Amino acid sequence: MESRIVIIGGVAGGMSAATRARRMNELASITVLEKTGHISFANCGLPYFISGDIKDERALFLTTPEQVAQRYRIDARVQHEVTRIDREHHRVEGVNHITGDLFSLPYDKLILAPGAAPIVPNLPGIDAVNVFVLRNIEDAERLNSYLEKSKPQQAVVVGAGFIGLEMAEALQSRGLQVTVLEKAPHALPPLDDAMGGWVEQELVHNGIALRMGQGLGAITTTNGRVSAIQTEQGESIATDLVVLAMGVRPSTKLAQTAGVVVGATGAIAVDKALRTSDPDIYAVGDATEVTQGVADFVTRIPLAGAANRHGRLAGEHAATGHSRSAASVLGTAVVRIFKLDVAMTGLSFSSAKKMGFDVERVIIHPNDHAGYYPGAKQMHLQLVYDRSNGRVLGAQAVGGAGVDKRIDVIATLLHFRGTIDDLAQLDLCYAPQFSGAKDPVHYAAFVAQNQQMGISPGVEDIQAGVQLVDVRTASEYAAGTLEGAINIPVDNLRTEHQKLDADKPTVVFCQVGIRGHLATRILKHLGFRDVRNLKGGYVQARSRIAKLPNLLPLVEVHAK
Ligand code: FAD
Repeated sequence: MESRIVIIGGVAGGMSAATRARRMNELASITVLEKTGHISFANCGLPYFISGDIKDERALFLTTPEQVAQRYRIDARVQHEVTRIDREHHRVEGVNHITGDLFSLPYDKLILAPGAAPIVPNLPGIDAVNVFVLRNIEDAERLNSYLEKSKPQQAVVVGAGFIGLEMAEALQSRGLQVTVLEKAPHALPPLDDAMGGWVEQELVHNGIALRMGQGLGAITTTNGRVSAIQTEQGESIATDLVVLAMGVRPSTKLAQTAGVVVGATGAIAVDKALRTSDPDIYAVGDATEVTQGVADFVTRIPLAGAANRHGRLAGEHAATGHSRSAASVLGTAVVRIFKLDVAMTGLSFSSAKKMGFDVERVIIHPNDHAGYYPGAKQMHLQLVYDRSNGRVLGAQAVGGAGVDKRIDVIATLLHFRGTIDDLAQLDLCYAPQFSGAKDPVHYAAFVAQNQQMGISPGVEDIQAGVQLVDVRTASEYAAGTLEGAINIPVDNLRTEHQKLDADKPTVVFCQVGIRGHLATRILKHLGFRDVRNLKGGYVQARSRIAKLPNLLPLVEVHAK
């Protein structure tokens, strides 16, 4: 089929579309128009170029116009910015920034993959030379050259999302003292607060100053350079540079001006074939809406995975007239922050709650592999499920190793709309270097099943007046416990339970929840009427106390 396919945007979605189109149709003419100086660059690798982990910038160029011309017969034109789509005459118009010439190009099928642009607040001083965003190679070169030439000492990063935290670490590794501002109450806002505390501890432990719950209020400039910023709360922080990592806005101007429908989310609306409201125009990637795969609502999830997969489908459809349908998107993501890996998929506990699910969660702290095999690292794993039918809704994990694998397993389960019973039965690979014979995801499912069956109810908040029992050893108790807890080690519980009141609501806890589960079972068998296991045990409680020191009655006390 001879057809003219034009693609706007030559990175994740655009190049996936272009190469798939070629593989599916040898006769089509395929042109990619990219406004920056590079196609197919690794934007996800940019923070590691800034940190110096990637030393040679050329490593970020996954391919070049010359290479795609030779291998794919794709005409990829850099520094070609499209400024208008003429739907009536099936043409795109734009500027060639190399020559300054205007161009006009016909298309039969047009694929929009223009991505998104960093959010830049409208504040006096925001255009100072030492305010940076990070989206493309040119942004990275500008920041890198400022770091080399001006030798700044201090930096403020605005936004504690994925890119903000990657940049905080990168700048710190270049020797800067870094402060991170975040408007949301905790770092990595998509995380639930039960998980966010670990991230903040890691940042602080590595010398990053945090201002959580604080937005950027104003900028002070001296001789055209930012010299300080003020938080919305009025604190002034001296700085030699600012990185804005406040999220992105879908690039929809071209589509909107051409009358292509933009949805309520502010991104381009597409159908399952990635067609926009104009059947000859497709759209993919950060500029588009997606369907959230757990709750089927339309949203924006600006991540590389969907951009690449959807680009491939749109390329095929544009080249052949058919393709498989685009699946919904779960928002599965992972990031490394110093030595901590953080991953998530599906709905958070708080969002599932807001959406009206009958939501319950499990929080456990297993090792990534068998404890007896050297190098085991603890992880914190949260599993969110619907109490009414056991359907798994989402998961988040934070730890030193293996969190990506667990979240990918659960993402696969979510894709097939699996339940905690499915998760408990998954046949996963095992050897001591990799996991336990019961994997962390199995444990999470077992705990959920126990909660659902009512045999070991969990509790997150300790109500005043409950009988609080620390079932760890006497030495663990002496090293630190929760205020008001009495100590009966789990091994003594069957003989010493008379010290407790079987009619009183009772909360037991151990280090991570495992001994607490056994203690719950023992006390229930002994006739205690209302016994609950503190979710995630002392480890979880301590993380909450570190984050919210005034949280009562979770008060940590140490033996004198
Ligand atoms: P892009 O890849 O941004 O490509 C769009 C291209 O279109 C741009 O190059 C732009 O110049 C061009 N363009 C726009 N308008 C025009 C026009 N009018 N004419 C011509 N060209 C135009 N995602 C992950 O899943 N994992 C990660 O680890 C991760 N890390 C990231 C780190 C950084 C620093 C950044 C910036 C992003 C990261 N992302 C990550 C997000 C991921 O890069 C994006 O989701 C993905 O690139 C989106 O693909 P896209 O094709 O929609 O847009």
